Amino acid sequence: MATMLPQVAVAAHETAPREAKGLSDPFGRTLTDLRVSVTDRCNYRCVYCRTGEGTAPPSELPLEDYGRMIRAFVSLGIEKIRLTGGEPLLRRGLVELIRELSKLRTVQGHRLDLALTTNGHLLGPLARSLRDAGLSRVTVSMDAVEPELFARITRVPGSFEHVLRGVRGARDCGLGPVKINCVLMRGWNETQIVPFAEFSRRENVVVRFIEFMPLEEDRIWAPDTVLPLEEVLGALRSFRAITPLPQNSLSETALRYTFDDGIGEVGVIAPVSQAFCGACSRVRLTSDGKIRTCLFSHFDHDLHAILRRGGTEADLRQFIEATVQKKEARHHIGETGFLQPGRTMVHIGG
Ligand code: SAM
Repeated sequence: MATMLPQVAVAAHETAPREAKGLSDPFGRTLTDLRVSVTDRCNYRCVYCRTGEGTAPPSELPLEDYGRMIRAFVSLGIEKIRLTGGEPLLRRGLVELIRELSKLRTVQGHRLDLALTTNGHLLGPLARSLRDAGLSRVTVSMDAVEPELFARITRVPGSFEHVLRGVRGARDCGLGPVKINCVLMRGWNETQIVPFAEFSRRENVVVRFIEFMPLEEDRIWAPDTVLPLEEVLGALRSFRAITPLPQNSLSETALRYTFDDGIGEVGVIAPVSQAFCGACSRVRLTSDGKIRTCLFSHFDHDLHAILRRGGTEADLRQFIEATVQKKEARHHIGETGFLQPGRTMVHIGG
């Protein structure tokens, strides 16, 4: 696997002069954040994401091809890469891909912010190698701290223990602060808000509650399944007084809080009740090499087709620049006529 991504590293001088202007869309948003799905396979079947029945054939590309496409994005101004899926830790060669990506530099010559979103099941034994390869941060999806409820949500018995081991392994090897993403769904896990606050304080991890979005395979989303921001804050306040924390960056999606004694950090990401599209800095690359300009797009833009036709890095750049001009102003969840996208989260890459 050592030769998997030949010459993926980009010398800063190759790209910096041309690209100093960055990648921006027609609404004046600068796109600095790329999410790349390296597989749409997953070993969990979370109720808010996948169906309990059947499995679509996987769509994956050689890791070298992700490397080439990512390199073109970075040369245009991308600064943060989040590897996702499907479940990215199912992808053989991921550590080597991270090692190669960690050699890339932003157009300003800085190290990339290289993050991973995982369900954590396979993370424990891999955490140290991922960190050594150059991973900066890890986000683990966890939707309950009660093991039985966790297994009902993931539809995998015994999953909680694996994930807890993964979270602790990542934290203890220096991949912290580990972030936990918890998708809240009324009728499933609203009882977990306070236990997660305690978990953040006890385990020294950052917890983010995320509003359920209509991106699931089983079509169970309805407006009243979403726990809006105010309701989450109310539950947190019933536990302890909360204090807002400042934004880390302008495009940060989470509203952050700590408690009156400064121990623990929780946040709420409210794409439905408090959409943050105006500050969106993201673009996505699906596991089959298509650019998605918004989670709720109805179109894919086939970047990998350029590679298949023997295109150069300049051709990839041209396609990326033209595609981001089509980025949507905002999503339309909750509005009359809203249509759920044909591709679900597991196929888009969360
Ligand atoms: N398998 C990895 C994981 O579990 O983190 C990466 C892929 S998963 C699709 C990425 C993120 O999307 C997870 O944090 C998951 O909770 C979130 N997600 C999936 N479906 C969602 C939905 N319908 N609404 C909100 N978030 C969702």
